[in-house]
Amino acid sequence: MKLAETGEALREILKGAPRPCVLVPTMGAFHAGHVSLMERAREMAGPHGSVVVSIFVNPIQFDRAADLDAYPRPLTRDLATCRAAGVDVVFAPDAASMYFPDRSVTVTETMLSRGLCGATRPGHFDGVCTVVLKLFLLSGCDAAVFGEKDFQQLAVIRRMVRDLDVPVEIMAAPTVREADGLAMSSRNTRLTPEQRADAPRIRQALSAAAELKNPAEALAFARRAIEASPLARIDYLTLVDAVTLQPISEILRPAILATAVFYGDVRLIDHAAVTP
Ligand code: AMP
Repeated sequence: MKLAETGEALREILKGAPRPCVLVPTMGAFHAGHVSLMERAREMAGPHGSVVVSIFVNPIQFDRAADLDAYPRPLTRDLATCRAAGVDVVFAPDAASMYFPDRSVTVTETMLSRGLCGATRPGHFDGVCTVVLKLFLLSGCDAAVFGEKDFQQLAVIRRMVRDLDVPVEIMAAPTVREADGLAMSSRNTRLTPEQRADAPRIRQALSAAAELKNPAEALAFARRAIEASPLARIDYLTLVDAVTLQPISEILRPAILATAVFYGDVRLIDHAAVTP
């Protein structure tokens, strides 16, 4: 496995590397969800293609400095995880090598990124689109794998690729969960034992609410079930169209019940599909 710490080094390593080249963009602090993305990338690349994992805690997608500072960065352990997963190349740049101090170009998606996490995290998806496009250009990858857990991110990236004619195939991998249903997240390690024990209520609330076909009832049920905990504070809880991500009040097409919940200053997201 090769390690590149700058964009130039990555380009050099990947020059003439076997294709297809499949990229897994991450911020590190790996759990089984990330490993499933690496496995998906290997399936796509085949035994002879190249699997590239980027590990970069992208400062421009964080709206809260405290969240950026607290984000875990266990690089040595992450490299071992990549090696065990058969990754060919890890790209782990630092912020100074990714961004010029006077950088002035940003990629902005203006529809799908406005609600949900975009509403409460200003600038987040600009930061995501900008870094993902840079990672695509630096790696010259043919395909990239993203988790469905971050379904808004997946939709925004797909829109960016469509609208800007980016020649990268976007693949989605299902959400990997803990045994108690909590969606795996690098932020879960920052929960106190009490918060961790309480957090599966998010998934339980969404799954049960998604069975209720009346949108107002579903939202009210999920809100009650989450707010029954004194530890949980809802950031948003919304029912949106699965394609447009716009809020809906009638379920005529596939929809998504999505939430972000704070436990202390740790913000967790999850969603459930709602079918008409
Ligand atoms: P991050 O955790 O922000 O570094 O995410 C890197 C990639 O892993 C993104 O495409 C996420 O959607 C994906 N991911 C994060 N958590 C999970 C999970 N529990 N299951 C599947 N994919 C995940």
